Amino acid sequence: MDFRYSPEQADLKARAAAYAQRLMRFEDASEEAGGPLPADTVRELTREAIDAGVFAINMPAEWGGAGLSLLDQVIVEEEFGKVTNCLWDIPWRPANVLAYGTEAQREKYLLPVIRGERFDAFAVTEPGAGSDPASGTSTADRVDGGWLINGEKWFVTCGDVADFLLVQADAGPERQPTLFFVDKQAPGVTMTREPRFMHTAVNGHPEFVFRDVFVADEDVVGGVGNGYELTKEWFTDERLMIAARTTGAAERALQLARDWALERRQFGSRIADFQLIQGMLADCAVDIAVNRAYTHQVAWEVTEGTCDRKTLHAKAAIAKLAAGEASGRVIDRCVQIFGGRGYDRSYPVERLYRELRVDRIWEGTSEIQRLIVAGELIKRGTGVLRLPTT
Ligand SMILES: Cc1cc2nc3c(=O)[nH]c(=O)nc-3n(C[C@H](O)[C@H](O)[C@H](O)COP(=O)(O)OP(=O)(O)OC[C@H]3O[C@@H](n4cnc5c(N)ncnc54)[C@H](O)[C@@H]3O)c2cc1C
Repeated sequence: MDFRYSPEQADLKARAAAYAQRLMRFEDASEEAGGPLPADTVRELTREAIDAGVFAINMPAEWGGAGLSLLDQVIVEEEFGKVTNCLWDIPWRPANVLAYGTEAQREKYLLPVIRGERFDAFAVTEPGAGSDPASGTSTADRVDGGWLINGEKWFVTCGDVADFLLVQADAGPERQPTLFFVDKQAPGVTMTREPRFMHTAVNGHPEFVFRDVFVADEDVVGGVGNGYELTKEWFTDERLMIAARTTGAAERALQLARDWALERRQFGSRIADFQLIQGMLADCAVDIAVNRAYTHQVAWEVTEGTCDRKTLHAKAAIAKLAAGEASGRVIDRCVQIFGGRGYDRSYPVERLYRELRVDRIWEGTSEIQRLIVAGELIKRGTGVLRLPTT
């Protein structure tokens, strides 16, 4: 076993960290604006991310992406997770399923996203279908040359800035779950409400209504009936990235809380000298250390090809569940260490406190991750816990 970063990985981490530091300069502006940054700022930061090799990190280099392995993506996302206001959305990760498109779809949809010219968003959730996406009622009915989509999608991350959406709908009389490329400008697409969520994010999570939206046959992603399988692929990668980002966020919070504990004096001493504060610092370090190790392990297994997709689905669920919940504990303690200042929106720990809450909800709630892990144990035994052997 060798847990060291290679020289290339150490360089990648340093580049990602430098870019994350650059993003941090815009946190206050984003917070004050209620989220969005000026378009020219976003354009400039996008260009810088491309130049630093940390944009479209999950896309192959021959298509213009950074071409990183899943392990390398975890290294980058951990640094990005340290940034508040979801500014890590700027160095965009196109939905991984875009890579399954046809050559024509790649030219039309994916390559402009990789060049930072267009934006995609993934629309699965509906008012009546969250944890149970199979209960969705969006439909795609066959018409000459394509499909007519009707339905409603909620909480579409980056839907406000997206140019097109990946919409899951049940196709045909057999109601086969299918993903469609839907242009946001297409007649019948309406962005309805833009909910104000707990976090202050650079991009929104709006709701959409689709009324008789025509989608041509060539805009079906990955074939009719493959919608769930593709969505599952998306979840698996994104859950690992959430584990990485929440670990990074927790580390930033601990760094800040540790420094503050050394600086702040009460009762004639540094608060770091109080054992109740020390206990909180130590518990944070434990939560971060074990989750960093596990997230890297799973990403390494994928990169080495030692893990089949089913086991990986469960391992990614363990990583998201563990890191998501651990980061919630860490940030709660760090706010406590900052006292009243930890409750002030101009402090990063306050923003992280609000932001980390959603990681136990989106991309599958903590309860759903538990069900995935329990399902794996019941169906296939405890092999999910094993390390691969050569
Ligand atoms: C900020 C934000 C951004 C999002 N971005 C996107 C996006 O880009 N695209 C997209 O499609 N969706 C997105 N979502 C939706 C998100 O994935 C869902 O909110 C999530 O899957 C939970 O669904 P729900 O909100 O309908 O909750 P529900 O499914 O109604 O769950 C409510 C509660 O019941 C629990 N529960 C449900 N079923 C079970 C069960 N079988 N056993 C035990 N407990 C259960 C849940 O864990 C939860 O605690 C986003 C959500 C938010 C808040």
